[in-house]
Amino acid sequence: KHSGSTLIISNRLPVKIERKKGKLKFTASEGGLATGLGSFYKDNGSWWLGWPGIIPKTAAEEEQIREELKKRNLIPIFLNQHEINYFYEGFSNAILWPLCHYRPSYVELKPEYWTYYASVNQKFADLAKPYITEQTTVWVHDYQLMVLPGLIRQESSPRSIGYFHHIPFPPAELFRMLPWRQQLLQGLTQADLIGFHTYENAQNFSETCQSILHAEVHQQQLKMDGRSCHVDVFPMGIDYEKYKHQAISEASQGYCQELKALYPGQKLILSVDRLDYSKGVIQRLEAYELLLKQHPELIGKVNLYMLIVPSRDQVNQYKKLRNEIDRKVGNINAMHSIPGWQPVSYFYKSLPFDRLSAAYCAADVCFINSLFDGMNLVAKEYVASKQYQSGVLVLSEFAGASKELADALLINPYAIQETCDTLYQALQMSEEEKAERMLANQQVVEKFNVFHWVNLFMLRLQEIYEANHQEIARK
Ligand code: UDP
Repeated sequence: KHSGSTLIISNRLPVKIERKKGKLKFTASEGGLATGLGSFYKDNGSWWLGWPGIIPKTAAEEEQIREELKKRNLIPIFLNQHEINYFYEGFSNAILWPLCHYRPSYVELKPEYWTYYASVNQKFADLAKPYITEQTTVWVHDYQLMVLPGLIRQESSPRSIGYFHHIPFPPAELFRMLPWRQQLLQGLTQADLIGFHTYENAQNFSETCQSILHAEVHQQQLKMDGRSCHVDVFPMGIDYEKYKHQAISEASQGYCQELKALYPGQKLILSVDRLDYSKGVIQRLEAYELLLKQHPELIGKVNLYMLIVPSRDQVNQYKKLRNEIDRKVGNINAMHSIPGWQPVSYFYKSLPFDRLSAAYCAADVCFINSLFDGMNLVAKEYVASKQYQSGVLVLSEFAGASKELADALLINPYAIQETCDTLYQALQMSEEEKAERMLANQQVVEKFNVFHWVNLFMLRLQEIYEANHQEIARK
């Protein structure tokens, strides 16, 4: 680890602020990113800049939030309702998200979205400026902040700038659609290092830069306009020990037994995801229904336990999807139920950590059929939780995790019959094969955990800095 300070920048800060009886309540949200980065931004002189997820009602409240967060090395950027609607829900979630998840027909190319995207990124750069010295390493996260590396480069002189793209990067043909493709890529390639979860994403990005910026590609380096940036692959991991320890805890084991007792004599097929059209929920239900039709002996013996975490459900495409899921689940349950048994248990809510862990423990199969997914951490969390109970991971080949978890049963989620056959195979698998496959996957998830991911990215950034310095010294 180098001696300078670190500035992490992401759209959302790892904190939840709620108003309770007129008072503000602060809770740390220990997501994977926050856990992995903890050792960096909590250092002396290091910071994390992002949106705290709340609009202050008064100047005094704003000041209170600022003060409270300062104690946790967090710097808030306050966004007004317009900025949230146009920068976040607009450009980020109605343009970049669908485009990067191969849904060009969902893209809403509104010019005002771009105006706000550019101005909010500028606001991030302005706020970051006082925290950046020549010894500062800046690490920008994700698609909401693609032009930020360029804006930081204009205003400050950090030691290095890294950027990580947490979602897929589309092929050049898709990215070319964007009227602002040039500005986005020019801003982004001002970073010293740009990271992706998979080789395919990195490759798509390099090809896009070749075609739009006329960049030259040498190994993992892009050269254009007399400057260069590095592109590399860093598959993100989870805090393996945390999931393992939770899974073997009395609390989770207890809930696990309670959960199993609710479905006696039934194998549980679990799915966990946010409400999103990239997750393949409709295809999942179709494959499951086909399974019931083609294997009537499974009636009364299986259960699809489907947990969907509420997300963006004020946005039209998401509202539509939610209605579609409601209809499809209702239809399957109406068509295939028998007295005392329903094929699908559907929950539209989020679970506390110990309950989620219990669900992972209890599940005979974890069924992930994303149509496109940057990584999919649920796959890794399931694997880490299978300590006392056995299970089979059925995983989409379109999720980044499939590149690492080679011992899962991989599926093409668009091929419904194949998916159905694989589910059947998972339900029939011998205990011996289950254990062998799970152990192999566990070794990968344990080794390439989130701490490893952070360290590798930081190390690579440091190497690039040293190499650039030697080159400058030689000249
Ligand atoms: N998750 C959650 N609450 C729940 C269920 C799941 O916060 O009730 C978490 C889950 O543990 C995982 C994350 O949501 O860490 C989902 O990450 P993933 O990479 O699978 O998909 P994303 O939502 O980022 O597309």
